[in-house]
Amino acid sequence: MDFYSTNSNGCRANAKNAVLQGLASDGGLYMPAEIPSLSKHFLDNLENLSFQEIAFEIAKSFFSSDINDTDLRGIIESALTFPAPVVNIHDNINTLELFHGPTLAFKDFGARFMARTMSHFLNENEKQHLTILVATSGDTGSAVAQGFLDCPNIDVIILYPAGKVSKIQEMQLTTIGHNITALEVNGTFDDCQRLVKTAFADKNLTEKFLLGSANSINIARLIPQIFYYFEAYKQLKNKKLATFFAVPSGNFGNLTACLMAKIMGLPIEKIIAATNINDVVPQYLESGVFSPHPSYQTIANAMDVGNPSNFARLQDICKKDLNTMRNYLWGLKVTDDEALQAIKEVKEKYNYTLDPHGAMGYVALSSYLKQVSIPSQGIFLETAHPAKFGDVVTKVLTENPAIPERLATCLNGKKETIKISTAYIDLKEYLLTTIN
Ligand SMILES: *Cc1c(COP(=O)(O)O)cnc(C)c1O
Repeated sequence: MDFYSTNSNGCRANAKNAVLQGLASDGGLYMPAEIPSLSKHFLDNLENLSFQEIAFEIAKSFFSSDINDTDLRGIIESALTFPAPVVNIHDNINTLELFHGPTLAFKDFGARFMARTMSHFLNENEKQHLTILVATSGDTGSAVAQGFLDCPNIDVIILYPAGKVSKIQEMQLTTIGHNITALEVNGTFDDCQRLVKTAFADKNLTEKFLLGSANSINIARLIPQIFYYFEAYKQLKNKKLATFFAVPSGNFGNLTACLMAKIMGLPIEKIIAATNINDVVPQYLESGVFSPHPSYQTIANAMDVGNPSNFARLQDICKKDLNTMRNYLWGLKVTDDEALQAIKEVKEKYNYTLDPHGAMGYVALSSYLKQVSIPSQGIFLETAHPAKFGDVVTKVLTENPAIPERLATCLNGKKETIKISTAYIDLKEYLLTTIN
């Protein structure tokens, strides 16, 4: 399947170029030429399929003309080595736990699939060397780094805002070594994103090196995020109830994947966009005015995004029509206090520990379901393991969430970073002197 840019339908690429470039040459984000519809047989038969089989069918509907079945199956089997279980919290409220991967966050799904897809395409012409540039507000970086660790012919450079990620996130980013380098930017996440975007648009660099992106703008990160919505629906016992998903959102990649799942045929009644106080999308849904702003810091820092990059894809899917988007989405801003209150309440009443991001999904879902009159059920996404946010969670809980072993090991590592300013020249000089 070909992919087109959200900036102009005429700017197209085949799957290989779309995946290796990340961002389209006109600065837009790639979208599949068509969002495929899955067969009724596939949808009715979900319960008889494994997670990997579901993922394979979905991936095939996008990549069948570009990656042969055997290789695609191989990519999926080596990427999806952990489950995505649905857990009931209470009554009609469930969570989809997306933190069972190596870095304990949902971005493992996208990063691992993308890394293997890129390797697949690079192997087609062996001499290509790829440098991945990625801006992270916390979780992307470690998921990407782990996804690419020791991938031949690929280096990864991660930009993260100094002092604005949690201690654990920072250790996950900066202790890996090998083909992974962490740049500590003296600024915000938006600065990191701008630096990366500027580098991609800089001909001095792109004519010399093959640069790739790996944050949520890459279409090979987005597509695997579709998989787990089907896997979640499969696990619901009562499929007759209207089903709602609440997605804790920052750059809106995860939510865009949810919308694509709906368009592909998954019976989702409505998608709830949960944000923290960086609520440009909920505000847009209400007022019709999209006003991006510099990001504000919250306890759900992976959602601290003032100008969500995937809004361009949402607009594209909705043909820039506000009412179309309103039919698909409902948005709610959740404050830190509301999220903390939810963490406390859900632990006390239901003995389940939410992380700050999932807590915002829980609050948004609960308040939406209260106003729905049809028999319904909801799933909010637990996008990270609470142990990654122990300092936040313990503000309202008496005990620390247990730290899984795969997280504990990196905490004993040695932090290694290179410090840069928010001036683009700093990044450029670094790239020119280190890439060979
Ligand atoms: C990245 C991230 C989000 C936001 O996801 P988007 O796809 O950028 O909207 C939410 N929660 C966690 C834990 C994350 O790492």
